[in-house]
Amino acid sequence: MHTPVTIIGAGLGGLTLARVLHVHGIPATVYEADPSQSARTQGGMLDIHDYNGQLALEAAGLMDEFRAIVLEGREAMRVLDRDGTVLFEEADDGTGGRPEVMRGELRRILLESLPAGTVQWGHKVSSTRALGEDRYEVTFADGDTVVAGLLVGADGAWSRVRPLLSDATPAYTGTSCVEFYLHEADTRHPAAAKTVGGGSMIAPSPGQEIFAHRESGDTLHIYVMLSKPQDWFAAIDFTDAAAATARIAAEFDGWAPELTSLITDGDTAPVLRSLHALPTGLRWDRVPGVTLLGDAAHLQAPNGEGANLAMLDGAELAKALAAHPDDVEAALTEYEQAMFPRSAEVATFEGVEVHRIDSDDNTAHGLINMFTEKGQ
Ligand SMILES: Cc1cc2nc3c(=O)[nH]c(=O)nc-3n(C[C@H](O)[C@H](O)[C@H](O)COP(=O)(O)OP(=O)(O)OC[C@H]3O[C@@H](n4cnc5c(N)ncnc54)[C@H](O)[C@@H]3O)c2cc1C
Repeated sequence: MHTPVTIIGAGLGGLTLARVLHVHGIPATVYEADPSQSARTQGGMLDIHDYNGQLALEAAGLMDEFRAIVLEGREAMRVLDRDGTVLFEEADDGTGGRPEVMRGELRRILLESLPAGTVQWGHKVSSTRALGEDRYEVTFADGDTVVAGLLVGADGAWSRVRPLLSDATPAYTGTSCVEFYLHEADTRHPAAAKTVGGGSMIAPSPGQEIFAHRESGDTLHIYVMLSKPQDWFAAIDFTDAAAATARIAAEFDGWAPELTSLITDGDTAPVLRSLHALPTGLRWDRVPGVTLLGDAAHLQAPNGEGANLAMLDGAELAKALAAHPDDVEAALTEYEQAMFPRSAEVATFEGVEVHRIDSDDNTAHGLINMFTEKGQ
């Protein structure tokens, strides 16, 4: 007899867990803070890897739906020097293992695969507490409560479930990201569109870089990464879009105009995201009836793996619960024993530190060397 699963958070991790549980006939309810599926845009393009994210989609029985949303040609990749010289270019011949999709589309196919009512929207968790006998009380912002016999925190960086397992909290990584969009780029911003090319473009330099994606349609999504203290960003008035854009662009003085135009030609107000991380290799002692997945368990600075890992966590946890119908603790132990090293290993890549923008190696040549060493 399976214990019904109470999942907090309808991100990619929580939804994958709910879906793979459903595939195995295990009931689950997902409580999500957002008031509805369309309450906010779901961020940019994600490459879904054949060694983690795609394995989760296979377990979810959603590979056909996934292939239908893959954006053709977006695995193309180029690395530019700050003077605009293209130093590395890789075409997308359709055989790569990291197809790109829009995050919102991926979330949609997961949501559509769940029985109606699985996701309870507008349920922001404010706290959780142990009631004893492996039961947990979940309190929502409106004061309502539910009692869970098996509770999973899939509620991201600032998880309200994590305190049941660990005192760890995310710390600022030293780097923030400022996002810009250029719409109808082929016609309205042709030089910028040419600079980005058909997929991803990265122009790195120690402590800063411009990263760009060609998303669906011909929208360019620009991520400007800057290693600066949070105070530095706090001194910028992001409600004044023009002044904030000019302040960010000033950090790229002397860079090729086709690169700085990715900032100055932005069609939308810049959006600041402070990047936080949990301690690498975070673990906790087994606590009966509760666990975490995805960013709630192992938030890392963006390294292209977080969403993939969250989905794989969800699938692996569901499979472990299906394999141990009468022994939740055996399932949670099996899941955590594999999840801890899997996520810690990604924070470094075969022992090599992942791409860190605040390092002296964050140059076009350093990055190309890293790609070559990783065999990407
Ligand atoms: C700029 C940037 C770029 C990135 N690019 C990539 C990439 O290219 N590839 C990749 O794999 N990863 C990428 N990541 C990482 C990726 O976004 C995360 O690792 C991934 O979203 C984690 O999924 P999750 O389901 O664990 O958490 P989330 O996606 O954070 O989902 C958590 C869900 O829980 C809900 N929630 C939060 N608090 C509560 C609460 N109190 N009560 C109820 N619900 C709550 C949220 O609304 C949300 O729906 C990037 C991250 C950033 C910041």
